[in-house]
Amino acid sequence: MSVRVRFAPSPTGNVHIGNIRAAIFNWLFARHAGGRFLLRVEDTDRERSTDAAIRTLLDCMAWLGLDHDEETVYQSRQTARHLAVADALLSSGAAYREAKGGGEPCTIFRMPKEGRLEVTDLVKGVIRKKAEDTQDFVIVRSDGTPVFHLANVVDDIDMRITHVIRGDDHLENTFKHIELFKAIGAAVPQYAHLPMIVNNQGKPYSKRDGAAFVGEFRDQGYLPQVLFNFLALLGWAPGEDREVMTRDELVAAFTLDRCKSSAARFDLKKLTWMNGEYIRMAPRAEYAGIFMARLREAGLLRDDFPQATLDGIIEQMQVRTKFYSDIPATCAYFFTEDYPFDAKAVEKRLQVPGAAETLEAVAVAFEKLPVFDVQSPHDALTAMGEANGTGLGAFVHPVRVAVSGLSEGPGLFEMLALLGRDTVCARLRRVAARARAGG
Ligand code: GLU
Repeated sequence: MSVRVRFAPSPTGNVHIGNIRAAIFNWLFARHAGGRFLLRVEDTDRERSTDAAIRTLLDCMAWLGLDHDEETVYQSRQTARHLAVADALLSSGAAYREAKGGGEPCTIFRMPKEGRLEVTDLVKGVIRKKAEDTQDFVIVRSDGTPVFHLANVVDDIDMRITHVIRGDDHLENTFKHIELFKAIGAAVPQYAHLPMIVNNQGKPYSKRDGAAFVGEFRDQGYLPQVLFNFLALLGWAPGEDREVMTRDELVAAFTLDRCKSSAARFDLKKLTWMNGEYIRMAPRAEYAGIFMARLREAGLLRDDFPQATLDGIIEQMQVRTKFYSDIPATCAYFFTEDYPFDAKAVEKRLQVPGAAETLEAVAVAFEKLPVFDVQSPHDALTAMGEANGTGLGAFVHPVRVAVSGLSEGPGLFEMLALLGRDTVCARLRRVAARARAGG
């Protein structure tokens, strides 16, 4: 029997990471098994399931590379089939009709009244429930529309789904669904219920904890392959502490027996770290292309900018870029005299007594150096630090803020060499004059 799984989202206009995580697990499981990954849009809520909501869903899937097999099934187009199954259940006695509150009758499915019900789950193990703790439930409303449970099960039967992989918020429903499969006379699929995604406090991860929708992560500059890799690790682990993995490596390693049953903590710091790792590992030419495009967009890169210097800047920046979108702000000082100053860094390093004198003394020392490379400014500042007993640190921080406007970045001496002596000294003197003038 070949594997057939599906992603069955209800389009609401936003795609929550918990839902797309289920899509990723289904996709990985299907690709690992050489099976089919199908898409079923559960669009029966006509108010929320607008064309725009469906487009958002498809965009997010395409962005993450979640390609699906066969034709998309739209649940709202299967209503006649759902109702036919409900009629069959009425005929067999598995369901009955009852008018609630005097209106039109709805169709109600009969749950077992005795014994125990069991869900055998590939992730959660065997979960049991006393029949007396369950209740009959509506499958067709009095207005004639099928209820989620019926539509979901009938579509899974028609799509010949072998494994239902979904969030554990559906675990309770599964007791109902299994009885429906049996009453319809269909084989019950295998189940894998994925652990809930939680915040640092162990509560369900929600909008209040930060970005929760795929589109928000995209807008914040996370790469699709990073979000994919990160979400694959929410409730699953390949073992051996492997974390940064290509899509092919994930496919090769993905098995349901490595899924975890306990809650998966959403760690934004790890996601951000991972984004930086992917950027660091990108081929140099790919990084360079993106780097230059971002700078051009920001109007920072002149066509006659010296290539050797540009290569040096790129080498320095690739290893420390967290988001491609950060490139203009973190590198502007290499390309313009009009670079922004971080207010906190200025307050801490430049608006302090003696800052102007320090910068001027450094400029004087730099101007006297026979060569200006990575080593010579380092040696000059070391000597000055020894002479006045403060050490190198007293010079490094104010100089960095003066020439770059920032408190972080490449190693200071690599940065100085790339900027070149004339630029460095002109900036030191200009910033010193501004500090003297009180700003
Ligand atoms: N539309 C349901 C949801 O998004 C489907 C659950 C399932 O995968 O069966 O929660």
